[in-house]
Amino acid sequence: MSRFWSPIVHELDPYVPGEQPKMERLIKLNTNENPYGPSPKALAAMRDCVDERLRLYPDPSGEALKQAIADYYQVPVPQVFVGNGSDEVLAHTFQGLLQHDLPLLFPDITYSFYPVYCGLFEVEHELIPLTEQFEIDPQDYARPNGGIIFANPNAPTGRGLMLESIETIVQANPDSVVVVDEAYIDFGGQSAVSLVSKYPNVLVIQTLSKSRSLAGARVGFAIGHEDLIDGLERVKNSFNSYPLDRVALAGGVAAMQDVDYFEETRQKVMQEREVLTGSLGALGFEVLPSQTNFLFARHPEREADVLASTLRADGIIVRHFNTPRIDQFLRITIGTAQECAALVASLEQILKA
Ligand SMILES: *Cc1c(COP(=O)(O)O)cnc(C)c1O
Repeated sequence: MSRFWSPIVHELDPYVPGEQPKMERLIKLNTNENPYGPSPKALAAMRDCVDERLRLYPDPSGEALKQAIADYYQVPVPQVFVGNGSDEVLAHTFQGLLQHDLPLLFPDITYSFYPVYCGLFEVEHELIPLTEQFEIDPQDYARPNGGIIFANPNAPTGRGLMLESIETIVQANPDSVVVVDEAYIDFGGQSAVSLVSKYPNVLVIQTLSKSRSLAGARVGFAIGHEDLIDGLERVKNSFNSYPLDRVALAGGVAAMQDVDYFEETRQKVMQEREVLTGSLGALGFEVLPSQTNFLFARHPEREADVLASTLRADGIIVRHFNTPRIDQFLRITIGTAQECAALVASLEQILKA
């Protein structure tokens, strides 16, 4: 606390990211990073641009990256926005597209950064409870609002929403921007990018942090109608002209272009997810169906926070949220087969005790 702070700083309730421990040999299943490294082509492209050219500013608009994303999704370049991680793209979206007189709607259980941005940008919001099965019911979003945002598949539940249901929400809200945060879409969900050409009020946000294993490079993007993208560009150019450095831009382009590596690694994650779902089920866990690179699971007889701390003592970190409705769940990132086997072995011992 300081008398030098602007008044809003006193009111902020900042996001708390999952731990990035300094210890080695920990099995890190707590922040949904990809267990396989970035594309070797992305790594080579990044190394290739670490030279004397770093004295120059990068391309302020990240044209090459926008082009690579536009090529991948078969959309026009002016429908693409890029930013320093999707968190930055989200921040510009909250400030530039979701701050209106009526409240922003989002699920009670979703990415916990959304309420944080509401605090920072003074966006009124209303929480819409997920159903008992932790699903989004599109009918719940047919009410007056100044915008809608949800993650699909949702985090931390892992559950996906059908494209028809997303379209229902979009059609019911022609006067609001509907933002679909697709951080995990590549692990089995149905993307809403196909709705962008049909509706001027859909904004899809994605990241290269999860399915393309570039969390450390901070590359995110949005796809939407040109007018929405134009709004985001205006905010970006009023905040930071060069949000993506040369290295991140080069890696992002190569990662988007290396479709073979992307396909191979996302398939491996999805296969391992099915294996781990079975193993946890056999240990008595209730596991929500996941379309992501993590599982959301609870054990009927064990306290989740105790399980998490016992696992930690065993060198395995998973995420536990001490919040209503989900405080008995663990969110477990899909690791390599070896990491998942170590988790299962550790849980077996813990449950025996
Ligand atoms: C990981 C995540 C993000 C942030 O991704 P970055 O691009 O790394 O900033 C955004 N939304 C959801 C739902 C996420 O899980």
